[in-house]
Amino acid sequence: MKKFVSGLILLLICTFIRAQEFEVETLSSTGDNDKRINLVFVGDGYQEHELNKFRDDVRLILLELFITTPFKEYKNYFNVHIIKVPSNESGASRDPNNLIDNYFGSTYFYAGVERLLVPTYDNKVASVLADNFPEYDQAFVLVNDDKYGGSGGWLATASTNIQAGQIMIHEIGHSMADLSDEYWAGPQFARESPNMTQITNPNTVKWKNWVGDNEIGIYPHTEDPRWHKPHNGCKMETLGLPFCAVCRENFIHTFYDMVSIIQAQGPPENATLGDEQDFYGVTLTPNPFSIRNFWLLGADTVSRNEPSFTLDLAVLSDGQHQLQMNAADLTALSRRDNIPMDQVTWNINKSGSSVTFTTEPGRKTVGRLDFLGRNNIVTGIEDDFIKEIQLKAFPNPVGDQLRITFYNPSPALFEMKLIGLSGQAFQTEATERLSQGEQEFIVDTSTLQQGMFLVQLRIGDKLVIHKVLK
Ligand SMILES: [Zn+2]
Repeated sequence: MKKFVSGLILLLICTFIRAQEFEVETLSSTGDNDKRINLVFVGDGYQEHELNKFRDDVRLILLELFITTPFKEYKNYFNVHIIKVPSNESGASRDPNNLIDNYFGSTYFYAGVERLLVPTYDNKVASVLADNFPEYDQAFVLVNDDKYGGSGGWLATASTNIQAGQIMIHEIGHSMADLSDEYWAGPQFARESPNMTQITNPNTVKWKNWVGDNEIGIYPHTEDPRWHKPHNGCKMETLGLPFCAVCRENFIHTFYDMVSIIQAQGPPENATLGDEQDFYGVTLTPNPFSIRNFWLLGADTVSRNEPSFTLDLAVLSDGQHQLQMNAADLTALSRRDNIPMDQVTWNINKSGSSVTFTTEPGRKTVGRLDFLGRNNIVTGIEDDFIKEIQLKAFPNPVGDQLRITFYNPSPALFEMKLIGLSGQAFQTEATERLSQGEQEFIVDTSTLQQGMFLVQLRIGDKLVIHKVLK
């Protein structure tokens, strides 16, 4: 999914340069391009007869990339494509003032630095991308030359040196996640960035949530001790090592700038609805699976960590109702205080036998702790907490009276609500302090409409949601 602004810039560039169309091959696809992060490789210094080698060289880089955390865990978020651009001459120049006849003008010794390998015609790269794969998210230039070299910037560039994979993955750190080198690259590169800072207070440094853990600290650069890095052995410092926790975290949040956690939702707005209608959201699937969700009906939490919610439209009251699925990634690889949360809101309108709805996707930033608090929501009889307290709500289906019994393990604040799927909470017990021991409540259900309703019990910090049928 292409960020809009960059797309616009490319379209403008495209207007002034003649179209250059080449064969595009997809090497890896995990979903539709508009729902994925698209990595696009172009080759430089590959002659026509070397284009199969280009594909093999990219495949080798991908093998390394997708065993590297966090790309390994988020492999399902990526599609990979190559654009086969033939050059007249193989390899790269050793002198920026004496380029060879490759396609993008790639040369070593850029700005006088031997290992700095740069495609000097980067406007040409931009136009090839615009003409052949404008929806790219991150572009790479792989240069068919064995000499060690690479560079970051909007393009991640590497040679086919034996360390190509490691160089490319390091350069992605610059290009994609805006990371600095964690070796001292020179005063001209010193700046505030996700993994470089002048702030030395562990309570306010940008990686404060990691300090003291995973070998994360505030380490001064020996060459200029005003500047600090989070780790002493990160891939942004030394090839072959893993990314440090701070760099990993920044990658993950970059991924979420490019993809939505909720990929699709249903039912379609023109679908014929049943009395008991499933509303659902399809999420991305990191591995391990770290996406969590909760469902709201109006202001009430009615479910959590379920891909769908069944609404009994037959008993839904006339008027406007709002059902919402909220999903976020609670991966242990990020400790940011604020995290992106994707939402789908179904605005449901019922009038007699006619039910219509609109669907509204959205994104908002939420406090991690606020979202984590939702983890105390307990649903389903298999849940450990329900087993522990031996919760029973019976009979089910219920008649005029519902009997609720459970064992309260310790004194706690207590609140009980019955939530009709018609959208309102129609009975609320006052909040009180509950003593330890066996509990029994008898609730009058004689005035409840027939259909599904939820018993919501707040016991201390747990929110128990139990489905009952009348
Ligand atoms: Zn790092």
